[in-house]
This record gives sequence, structure tokens and C-alpha cells, in this order.
Amino acid sequence: MPLSASVLIDGPSELVFDYAIPDGLPVRPGCRVRIPLRNRPATGTVLRVAEKPQGDFALRYLTDLVDPEPLVTPELLKLAEWITSYYGTPLEQVIRAFIPASIRGEKTSAKTARAALIEKAPTEEELATMAKRAKRQHAIIELLTGATEPIPVAQLGGSASASLKALSEKGFIKLIDLEVRRDPDAGETIIPTEPFTLNNEQAEALEAVSDSLISEKPDPILLHGITGSGKTEVYLQATQKALDLGKNVIILLPEIALAPQTVRRFKARFNQLDDKIAVQHSHLSQGERFDEWNRIRSGEARIIIGARSAIFAPLRDLGLIIVDEEHEPAYKQDNPPKYHARDLAVVRCRLEKCAVLLGSATPSLETYNNTLLKKYQLVKMTQRADGATLPLTRVVDMRIESRKQKGRDAILSDRLRTAIDERLEKSEQVILFLNRRGFARSLQCPPCGHAIECNHCAIPLTYHRSEERLVCHICGHQAVVPRVCPECKDPAIRFQGYGTEKAEIILNKLFKGYKIARLDTDTTRRKNALRDTLRDFKAKKIHILLGTQMIAKGLDFPNVTLVGVLNADLSLYAPDFRAGERTFQLLTQVAGRAGRGDLAGEVIIQTSTPHSPSIQFARHHDFDGFVTQELEMRKQFSYPPYTHLALLLARSSHERRAEFTLETLHLKLKENLPEGVILGDPIPSPLTRSHSQFRFQLLLRGPNARVLSRHIKKILDATPTPEDVIVTSDLDAYDLG
Ligand code: ADP
Ligand code: ZN
Repeated sequence: MPLSASVLIDGPSELVFDYAIPDGLPVRPGCRVRIPLRNRPATGTVLRVAEKPQGDFALRYLTDLVDPEPLVTPELLKLAEWITSYYGTPLEQVIRAFIPASIRGEKTSAKTARAALIEKAPTEEELATMAKRAKRQHAIIELLTGATEPIPVAQLGGSASASLKALSEKGFIKLIDLEVRRDPDAGETIIPTEPFTLNNEQAEALEAVSDSLISEKPDPILLHGITGSGKTEVYLQATQKALDLGKNVIILLPEIALAPQTVRRFKARFNQLDDKIAVQHSHLSQGERFDEWNRIRSGEARIIIGARSAIFAPLRDLGLIIVDEEHEPAYKQDNPPKYHARDLAVVRCRLEKCAVLLGSATPSLETYNNTLLKKYQLVKMTQRADGATLPLTRVVDMRIESRKQKGRDAILSDRLRTAIDERLEKSEQVILFLNRRGFARSLQCPPCGHAIECNHCAIPLTYHRSEERLVCHICGHQAVVPRVCPECKDPAIRFQGYGTEKAEIILNKLFKGYKIARLDTDTTRRKNALRDTLRDFKAKKIHILLGTQMIAKGLDFPNVTLVGVLNADLSLYAPDFRAGERTFQLLTQVAGRAGRGDLAGEVIIQTSTPHSPSIQFARHHDFDGFVTQELEMRKQFSYPPYTHLALLLARSSHERRAEFTLETLHLKLKENLPEGVILGDPIPSPLTRSHSQFRFQLLLRGPNARVLSRHIKKILDATPTPEDVIVTSDLDAYDLG
């Protein structure tokens, strides 16, 4: 049967064309091929190989293979198929995500430098003459004779050097092109570290991983260790164990740009293996990414540290995948394929029979539930490894403050303000958090703290300003905006919000003479802005660091003794069933930032609902208490982890058409709705307009992920949508719009 290949053409157009495969050419998915394109030669990557449609004579033949080895390993192809069947994303889109554009494209290539090596050693006699008549040539020969590797000509007087020319003309030396690595961390000095002697809890955790490494069918391990319990040390020693067994390791970090310290710790420990570590993240240049990826594929790199897409690293002999901060939403990809890297780590481990270690101080409920179901093994670490104590956490009732200060925008309570003053006086440092997401979206009464919720779904209703109404983002229930608070009858029920920008202005006024820096998505757009600010903070050039949750994790500043959360309600009353979980995580992580060194730490949380469970459990560092009550709520209202959830989104520059499309889909989804699936009503997205497009969405929930995604795919495939409406679906969605 003649075969055809779908080829993703190199270049920015991202076109896919089908070509017939010449008889006998071993073309497989992932192979690089040469093809004719508009009568010109071009190159591309094979996404799929299929039987050539009968009677289709129009297909042109592809020319040949660029490289007989495909760019993706057979195991990764299986992972790609899994993603296709689970998320319903076409295989070609999945494979596209597997291979970075810089690898697929022709524009980036290996960087080379001219180098010289001995071709034919001069005789004693020739050498002696040279020593007298051509000192420079003699010196070069001496250098090259002593070298074990070719020496770049830049170190020998440059490519234009007459001596080099003469030597090569006489046949003594040969000039070659040497591949040089663009090392993202070149020039950084790293002091090697020795492994710590593990404490008992750490030793137990390491043993669980060691067992897993030699097991035939290892279960994923959840390492639930409080901040500072020494999880990173366990990762380091577990990595060593895998290497000792001749196996390779992938380490995933949620946002690698935020974790330069973690990367450095790996480099420091595996210093002698420096060229065995590869990094993969979006802050690399195209060239660096190209080099790092090729070092992985060639088998040179044995430890990969990367952000979520590093889960696709074409690494062979995989022994262990570590997912640090496994609860982080950053592991969820927001473009198709909308995969979750932690979940893929578990799948990849099953496919490649390797160990997987998920670490967190605040595990996600999904993962924690899997330990309850005995699908994952649970290991706990409850003590700080460096002997520090957990900081004292205080909760300040902002209802009282807002009455006291009579002002709107009471951003600092007296207590927090005094505490900041004290630290500044002692030359200690302060971190302040302000979670800007959720800004002005739910209606919360400042005087009493009451937030208006949906009776059916236990989440706050979202305020849609344009239509002046309240909408539930889970089920679609709508309500009018009340004139006074239903609870305390105060007419001030209108969210008075402020973001980091305004907070910065106020802080600058309050703490004159001190340096305040702000870190959020706006201030970190410039390359290295984040790194530079963190460096200055570490060097104590900055006194107060104000930031969104982007700085909540992983940072380690011994001189920070006070952490303030300006408004915990912003995340707590976000219109999302995970709001309580996120708030608990945020507060716990934030608390972990204080008192990392010898100095005692203090955390002050400002809120209008001081008795809410997420805040109280976080304050008492009570994870078990928190999950017990949170799982109860999730079960009662059929939320994950008891169901899977899919978000269907229609967007268009035509408002009516987007809305109508989603309504049509809603009707069709309703017919033959699989058993147990709950279908929400279509609603305008919280982000009603984005990039001048109108957005409408609906949510589905069901016990089985595949049943859900199959049903959606079936309906989407069978329902033609207007050309200017784009419909996307997101299984296991994190961002609910
Ligand atoms: P986590 O990753 O859980 O937040 P870390 O691995 O960063 O914790 O450890 C917290 C601190 O304790 C670090 O400064 C680390 O160097 C130190 N540490 C870790 N393990 C040990 C140990 N076994 N003995 C002494 N200090 C340790
Ligand atoms: Zn509802």
C-alpha cells in the first residue's frame, strides 16, 4: 500500500502538506524530510504517516530524508498518542509542541568556530629551524602538540594570522570548524557543593525513590514537605541515585525564571558533570535552545532542568522525573495541546517505567486524593531541615481597619505598618504580596466582608460590569446586583480594589527614604528584569519587595523577617472553585518566605474574613485540616478531584455570532449527554473582551475525562462553526476564564 506523509513545513507559516513517500524510504513520524514546495526545495518535519488515499494522484513525492533518525523517540510518540486520545488534540498539533521551532526551522543551526589541530608533526629538524626563524609558528606548534583537543584560532592569533596560514600550507596543521555550545550560563562561577547528611525524614523520602528506581512498576511518589524541609536536597540525592544506575533525569520547575536558585543548586552539586546538564525554558535564546535540545537528543545531557515543555525532552534511558511544586497552575499549558505537565510526567513514567517524584509543601487536591486512593505513595517531611522554626502568623481584620481609618483603600493596617517600620529600622527586609488576579470581579462588602455566592455552586458570583449583573461561572445562574449588602445592609457593597501599581505609590509615600521594588507581569517584561531585581534584593539594595504571587515560591532570602499579605480576599473570593485551595497554598508558600535564616520570621495577613477556613488552616500550618474540609466541599458540589472539568470557549469579533455558536453547541451537547456529565449554561467569559474579541464559555463536568473529551470532540467535529468564530476546549482547565 503506498504511503503518504503529512509534513509540517519549516518556517513561520506552519503549513502542513501531504506528500507521497517514495517506495522503501523509511519515513516515520518525527523524521526530517526534504520536499518540493512551489517548485523549490524545502524542508519539514513528518507529523503523520498514513495510507495514501486511493485515487489521489495529485500528491507529489517527498524528495528524501534529511536524517534517518526521527526527532522524537518511540516512547515519546506513545506519549503523543496518549495526549491525543486524552485531550482530543490532533496528533500533528501535539508533535508540533514536542519539537521546538528552532529545531524544526532551518534558520538556527549549530554555532561553529575555526579551530586548529596538528595534521603532521614537524620533525626535530624542522622544529629547530622554526624555533629560530619563525618563533610565532613554533609557539603555535608547541601549544597544539600539548593540547588534547583542537584549539580555537581566536586563541592562536585569529583566523587571519599569517603564521597559521603558513603552518597549514606546509601541512603541519589542519583548520577545522568546531561546534561550540551556546551555554546559557556561561561565565557564571558556581561553587561545588557536597551532599548533606540527610535527616531521618529526608532519608526515608530518598529510600522511597531508590526503591522506585529499581521497581518494575513504580507508583508515583508524593513528597509532601513543608517549606524548608529539605525537599531540594532530596531531589539532588535522588538524581545522584538515578545517575549511579546509569539512568537519566528530568526535573520540572513551574517557572524556571523564578527559580534560578534551584537551577544553580543542581549545577553546583553536579558540577563535575557540568556538560551533562541541559536547561529548557522560554527565556533561552533560539540558539541556546537549539544547542540544549541537540545535547539532549544526542545523549550528551543526562540531567534536564526545565519548565513544563521539558516533559517532552527526547531523553533516553529515563530513570526519574521530579516535579517540583507540583501544585502550580503554571504546569498547565494554555495553548493546544493544553496538557498538564505534572500529569504527563505520571503518564510518561508509566510508559517508560521510571520513577516519578512530585514535591510540594501544599500538594494539589488532585494529587493528594491520589494518595488517598493509594494510586500514589505518600512521603511526609514535617520539620525544617536547617532547624529554623515556622514563622508566627497573625491575621488582621481589615473590617475594623477600614472603620478606623474611615478611608477607602486602607491598604496597610496599623499593625502591618508598625511591623514594617520596625524591620526597616533594624535593616531587615520585607516582602509584601498583593494578588492582583480577581481584581474587581466578585462583589464583597468591605464593612462586613460578605461575598455574594451562587447557592448551587459555592463560588462567588462574578460582577459583569457591562451588563450590570452577577453571574455564576460554573452553572450560569444570574442575579441582579444588590444596592445594599444582603448581610449588613451597607450600601458600600462595591469592591474597592487597588493593584500593585497603586500600592507601590502609597508605600513610597509612607516609607520615604527606603527603596521599594515592584515585581509583577508588567515590571518583568524586560529580559532579566526579574533576575536583576531579585539580585538587588538579595544584596539588600532594596528594602521592601512588593509583588504578585509570582514571587511567592522558591525564593530564599535569609534577611527577610516580615512577610505581609495586603489583601488575602483577592484570591479567596476569586470566582473559582479552587479559590480556597489557591489561597491556602499562597499563604503557606508566602509564610515559607519569612525567617529562612537565623532570624525569626513573622507573617501578617490582612483580610475582611478572618475566620474563613483557608486562612485559619494556613495560619496554623494545618494541611490535613484544610484538605479534609476542602475535599468535603468538592465532593458535595461535584468538583475535581471527584470530577474532570472541561471549559468550552467561543470567541469572535462578532459578539452575536460567538454567543450563538456557543448556544448551538450547548444544545447539541445536551442531546445524548453521557451519564454523570453536568452541563453548565453558556455565559459571557469573565474576560468578556480580549484582543477585541468577544468571548463566551460554558463548563462541563463528568467523572471520566475521556468520556468528556470524546463527547465534546464528537459535537465539535459534527457542528460547523462560522468562519470568524473560534471554539476551543480545555480539559482539566485551571484558568476558568
Ligand atoms: P525545600 O526545598 O523543602 O524548601 P531546601 O532543600 O531548600 O528545602 O532546604 C532548606 C534549607 O535547609 C536549605 O538552606 C538547605 O541547604 C538546608 N538543608 C537541607 N537539608 C539539610 C540537611 N540534611 N542538613 C542540614 N541542612 C539542610
Ligand atoms: Zn452556580
